[in-house]
Amino acid sequence: MSETDDVDVPVVCPECGTETRVALDDLAETVEAHNDRLHDGEDVASVDPDLADQLMDMVADDLIASE
Ligand SMILES: [Zn+2]
Repeated sequence: MSETDDVDVPVVCPECGTETRVALDDLAETVEAHNDRLHDGEDVASVDPDLADQLMDMVADDLIASE
């Protein structure tokens, strides 16, 4: 059982004042599409920094566990 399969990641955009949860699989695409469409490709929207840390830990654990 992998804990990272169905993880929703909060993407926050300070300029739009929005927080959107997206599946980890769609994360890069969603952030890029949002910034592209609404912010002329500027890096405005991003993963919640707190969550990004936790996520890195989870992914790291997962990688270590699967070795
Ligand atoms: Zn935005």
